[in-house]
Amino acid sequence: MKLAYARGPPIAVFAGSWKCTVSPIDGTPIALGEPFGDCEPDIDRLISIATTVRIIKQMGVKVFISRELGEDEVDAAYAGGADGVLEELSFSRDEYRDGVQFVLFQPADPVELVNRVREIAQRHKKPFDVLVATSFENAKVFAPYVDGVVLTGGWVGVELTRIDHLPEVGRCVHCGVDFLMYGNSLKRCVYCGRRLVKVITSTKPPRSKAVFRSVFKQYVNVNRLRFKVV
Ligand SMILES: [Zn+2]
Repeated sequence: MKLAYARGPPIAVFAGSWKCTVSPIDGTPIALGEPFGDCEPDIDRLISIATTVRIIKQMGVKVFISRELGEDEVDAAYAGGADGVLEELSFSRDEYRDGVQFVLFQPADPVELVNRVREIAQRHKKPFDVLVATSFENAKVFAPYVDGVVLTGGWVGVELTRIDHLPEVGRCVHCGVDFLMYGNSLKRCVYCGRRLVKVITSTKPPRSKAVFRSVFKQYVNVNRLRFKVV
């Protein structure tokens, strides 16, 4: 099904190329409103997860997810820049345990959290990083107080819509513009002359953490993205 990104944050992160014949590469940002691929319609959940992770990462904290989410969902989170899965961390819950790197909390609010953290530090006198398990909605409340969040759900809303025609899309990362080639075919950006990157492709890089990371890094500084019809 040919799809466009109809509703959600100004920039979403594409994930789920394995459910598409043509699409952006996993981890590629897509602009609100733009057509992006020919995919199974349930890909909205994967795009939503990837987009949520990116938004939380931009708050300056590490983001982890649970393997219990499922393989597709974990890969989507990596496409959004996730730092890892909870089950691979050395952690304990609510209390410091000898040698762990992380202590995971599920507090009601930041006040409960910071006082609990200090109290544990005082008792154990050992270094540890603070993680909070929380939904997307509450992640921004805790982000200023923690080293990382474990996202438990409540993903950002992303809606897709079915479209009739999938144009070629050429991106100028420098200008933050995607050229939707409904009428004309462009090789270079009309604003700066740089060569355009083809966004929609049948190329499928391997589903590996390293590949997701490298694509995420490539676009980490893209904070605005719009499309222009040509
Ligand atoms: Zn340009």
